[in-house]
Amino acid sequence: MNLILLGGPGAGKGTQAKKLIDKYQIPQISTGDILRAAVKEGTEMGRKAKEYMDAGKLVPDEVVIGIIRDRLAQPDCRKGFILDGFPRTVPQAEALDKVLAEMNSKIDHVISIDVDEEELVTRLTGRRTCKNPDCGQMYHIKFNPPKKEGVCDKCGSELYQRDDDNEATVRSRLATYNQATKPLIDYYQAKGLLRPIKGVGSIDDIFTQICGILG
Ligand code: ADP
Ligand code: ADP
Ligand code: ZN
Repeated sequence: MNLILLGGPGAGKGTQAKKLIDKYQIPQISTGDILRAAVKEGTEMGRKAKEYMDAGKLVPDEVVIGIIRDRLAQPDCRKGFILDGFPRTVPQAEALDKVLAEMNSKIDHVISIDVDEEELVTRLTGRRTCKNPDCGQMYHIKFNPPKKEGVCDKCGSELYQRDDDNEATVRSRLATYNQATKPLIDYYQAKGLLRPIKGVGSIDDIFTQICGILG
């Protein structure tokens, strides 16, 4: 099962991906997580990517396409994968189609999670993320708080607020989403792969809707 989770920043892609990993035992591939790891390691790619990320802009297509090509070649992707935050532009989607065709593979479903903008701002500015890169669970100070403030329920690591989860950067990320990423809804609709869902409601209800689509 090869899935794409599509939706604005804060729509709940990562939250749902974590639940899908547990249920279907397939890996989550988040270009955002991979880029943040590169920033933390201080690699050349990380240093360049950070400027775009801090500005709420997209990292250049060639960079993220390269990341995805390498990641999809890993053996754990053979039984399926969940793409979270990729593709984000039409050229990225076209490159993905090419990479998958070379591997005799394809996308099965594109789950598009719809949440209105003001709700996205509230979600992102209250988001807290687990510092442990092997966990990466996300929480919300109001909507999904951890049992103990500042501590991950799953792994006990510290929670932090991402640098780009401040209101100014969030507004810029939303503008980027509207301009560059929204056209992917039509792109996948035309291919018959789009499975739109309403992203407002409890995390469990949204998960149930997704599982209903996947069967
Ligand atoms: P994305 O990966 O799409 O950017 P996240 O999964 O990180 O989004 O979710 C963004 C924020 O919204 C997090 O703080 C998360 O806890 C919260 N959240 C996720 N799903 C819901 C929901 N259904 N209702 C309310 N808050 C949610
Ligand atoms: P969210 O879903 O909360 O917006 P992500 O973790 O997916 O956040 O992405 C954080 C940032 O990383 C983006 O704002 C962008 O700068 C960069 N990024 C992540 N994925 C991509 C991508 N596919 N193409 C370009 N830039 C990306
Ligand atoms: Zn954790």
